[in-house]
Amino acid sequence: MEIEIATIGGYEEVGRQMTAVRAGDDIVVFDMGLNLSKVLIHDNIRTEEMRSLDLIDMGAIPDDRVMSELDGEVQAIVPTHGHLDHIGAISKLAHRYDAPIVATPFTRELVDEEVHDESEYVVNNDLISMEAGETMQIGEHCELEFVNVTHSIIDAINPVLHTPEGSIVYGLDKRVDHTPVIGDPIDMKRFREIGREDGGVLCYIEDCTNANKKGRTPSEAVARRQLRDVMRSIEDWDGGIVATTFSSHIARVKSIVEFAQDIGREPVLLGRSMEQYSGTAARLDGLDVGFPDDLGMYGHRKSVDRAFKRIMNEGKEKFLPVVTGHQGEPRAMLTRMGRGETPFELTDGDKVIFSARVIPEPTNEGQRYQSEKLLSMQGARIYDDVHVSGHLRQEGHYQMLDALQPQHVIPAHQDMAGFSGYVELAGNKGYDLGRDLHVTSNGNTIQLVE
Ligand SMILES: [Zn+2]
Repeated sequence: MEIEIATIGGYEEVGRQMTAVRAGDDIVVFDMGLNLSKVLIHDNIRTEEMRSLDLIDMGAIPDDRVMSELDGEVQAIVPTHGHLDHIGAISKLAHRYDAPIVATPFTRELVDEEVHDESEYVVNNDLISMEAGETMQIGEHCELEFVNVTHSIIDAINPVLHTPEGSIVYGLDKRVDHTPVIGDPIDMKRFREIGREDGGVLCYIEDCTNANKKGRTPSEAVARRQLRDVMRSIEDWDGGIVATTFSSHIARVKSIVEFAQDIGREPVLLGRSMEQYSGTAARLDGLDVGFPDDLGMYGHRKSVDRAFKRIMNEGKEKFLPVVTGHQGEPRAMLTRMGRGETPFELTDGDKVIFSARVIPEPTNEGQRYQSEKLLSMQGARIYDDVHVSGHLRQEGHYQMLDALQPQHVIPAHQDMAGFSGYVELAGNKGYDLGRDLHVTSNGNTIQLVE
């Protein structure tokens, strides 16, 4: 059976991930993501109202025109998790394919919301839920399996396409975490089994976000301990304490909420995306994230302002607002607080916890710098980088190669410079550039079996 891989997006950048695998006549598409930095650099762009080709030209979504070179039918579109660089282009591209979107329940909900907000295209693809550990038939000869992984968003999986020529493992995005705060540990046992089945692993596509970093990415339990340490240390502060993190990082939000209660404060989630992600997680049956029943979440401007007024009336020392704006995004809640545009008044000594790192990109770095300065000018004390990454470092990559023993490896989710650490590591494991280690770019096809 012919096996061909199209590396469509995310092979020259972190963002707009999209990869297609053709096994005989059947094609499975993994991820359709958005490169948010290409959107945010322009002021006031509303992607919901934009055409696909314009977004492709901007470099914001994958250029899927290479799909016409693949001789087969798309059988499924499979987003691995709910981050926008993996699902953000579904609303612009999925309608071109007569195939269902298959995802875990939380990811499926987020895709549903994305598609719902779209105003330019009608996306009628079926939305199918599939849990980690489950499988689905693809055409006559292949099977799709979801393997549970751990990442900075809940309900993440690595999809595996089992073909008669061996398995294709799509490894975006994960870290090796045995103590995630929500959900099961990464299923390394299953990866090892897949590596030792008949036919083994034909190809492994790997998340190289942190491939240039030595050592191991710590568990979410470590970020949780850091947070507890910081929050306990300011337990006696009788003024304002504000925290910010990735809205989609439900496990982190949960830790902040719990420690807020531990130090005698009422947690309140504020900001549009904070309300969206946490609201979705709390509403979803079968996904027990463990938020308190009466946890306040407010997204609309008016309800946010009302919540801030209540906090100011009843006393800042009784609350802990968890807000958007960890990257200093100009319109996010924390940035507006820094500019004095909300009813929340920061005073000398108030604490601001950034449970996030700055995404190393000039736009973010500039915006975050500005936000921190504005907060500091009002007397705020900053606790930054209370965080661990959601992506494998080198020892995690080594573990994955050891577990899967793939015949071919394709590094992804980085640019050329970002791949270098992985190329060296894979080289030490016996892979050769151009033979079985394929550093590629967007819009290429690689024929693994003729
Ligand atoms: Zn991700």
